[in-house]
Amino acid sequence: MQHVILITEMLQLESPIDAERWCSDQRHRGETLGFVPTMGALHKGHLSLVTRARAENSVCCVSIFINPLQFEDRRDYETYPRDTGSDLVLLEAQGCDMVFMGNLKQFFPEVSDLSKIDILPAGPHGLGLEEKFRPGHLDGVRTIVERLFRTVGVSRVYFGEKDFQQTLVVSDLAREMGYPSIVVCPTVREDSGLALSSRNVLLSQDDKSRAEQIYPALLAARDAWLSGERTAGVLSAVMTDCLNHDGIVVEYAEVRDPARWTAEPPQTPLLRAQALIAARVGSVRLIDNLRLDQ
Ligand code: AMP
Repeated sequence: MQHVILITEMLQLESPIDAERWCSDQRHRGETLGFVPTMGALHKGHLSLVTRARAENSVCCVSIFINPLQFEDRRDYETYPRDTGSDLVLLEAQGCDMVFMGNLKQFFPEVSDLSKIDILPAGPHGLGLEEKFRPGHLDGVRTIVERLFRTVGVSRVYFGEKDFQQTLVVSDLAREMGYPSIVVCPTVREDSGLALSSRNVLLSQDDKSRAEQIYPALLAARDAWLSGERTAGVLSAVMTDCLNHDGIVVEYAEVRDPARWTAEPPQTPLLRAQALIAARVGSVRLIDNLRLDQ
């Protein structure tokens, strides 16, 4: 019996224009496109999105672009982990068909002065939490994601629930554009519960142990929910108490109704609840969240 080994090479494109052409060709051939936008420094969380995009579509593409528009802190942008060589190996092994990159100029070819890019407001789901501590961040996300959606066109796009507020903002954008459809995928964690993040490599061993307090704080809020607690302020205090350690600076540990987003915590008893935490450990900012009522 003859064994046929199929080796498919991942296509690597250096500009959004080339990517747009490739995606359009694929659609004309009747392929369905799954798309995973990333900023690189890939880990198993990113790869879980690629696996799902691969399984649910006939072709899968990934973007790697560290979007300067979403970094309100220049140092954070400069120190953001970068490892394109390893990313490409991981993506090819995961069955990605095409990866594209680009620079700001290529994403906004019509703008001669890049400091004058028209920033799109994140919209109602951009209010509160991230907005308070990273003003402009979600506006920058919406601005680049709009370009990415235009580049890839009609497709299914995969986002991680880890960036919960971001999933709400990009879902609004997709609805307004009439395409693509958004798939939100569960957060991948280390055995300790720490959510995988590209920034985790920047944590010292001690800081990592501190960061591992974040998930137990979310679980404590869920325990309180399961015991009947429905007041946002009390659930928030449960999390803050768990995070009361030297070396962890909590930016927020709050609860929102995921179906009725509000900038401030809801004042009436909750019917649904998403607990969300942002904390700084050393120089690293980490976010995580957990649905309490499911
Ligand atoms: P980033 O490269 O950080 O912009 O992330 C690209 C995508 O991967 C986003 O949709 C993230 O929400 C998602 N992502 C990041 N970390 C995780 C994780 N631990 N589990 C699942 N998805 C993730």
